[in-house]
Amino acid sequence: MSDILTIDTAVAAGLKKPEPQVDPLQVFDDRHPMLSVPIPEFTGSLPNSSMTHLVKRMKMTMKLYSGLGLASNQCGIKERVFVIGTDQFQMACINPKVLAVSDEIVKENEGCLSFPAFFLSLPRPKWVDVEFTDENGETKQTRLDGLTARCFLHELDHLNGVKFTSYVGAVAMQQAKRKQEKLIKKIVRRKK
Ligand SMILES: [Zn+2]
Repeated sequence: MSDILTIDTAVAAGLKKPEPQVDPLQVFDDRHPMLSVPIPEFTGSLPNSSMTHLVKRMKMTMKLYSGLGLASNQCGIKERVFVIGTDQFQMACINPKVLAVSDEIVKENEGCLSFPAFFLSLPRPKWVDVEFTDENGETKQTRLDGLTARCFLHELDHLNGVKFTSYVGAVAMQQAKRKQEKLIKKIVRRKK
């Protein structure tokens, strides 16, 4: 891609201020104690400027590591907030709640930024009705479906101190660990 295509033309023409750069956060692995501790509900006025800044850093960190979701405690921060999304679409969920779930259950592969190259096939409801406050302070109620519902539930589990490994038995864990080792070897070989 030529450089001209990567320039934000509106910023270049002075029509828009450049996005302030934020530093990415460190993502801790599954041995970090904060991943096992539930975070209490945030009761202050939301969002304040430090929350807005945190959300920006979390979004940029999720993008940097190509994750689909990131909870604050994965970065050692004790706030009831996570971000979910892709390159095209990202949303912050503060004080997230599940209002209802579908009876239909879907089993899909799931990963986690705190468990590099590790995937588990997990059953989750097909859809969820949720409530959360976004980074603009708006409370939203909406139905999430498929992968977005799965991401929401995975990240909410993090805020409740629950790791996705708690849903499977020893045999499934061993199988997933063997696959992880193979995948890591493959990645290391590709980098050489
Ligand atoms: Zn995770």
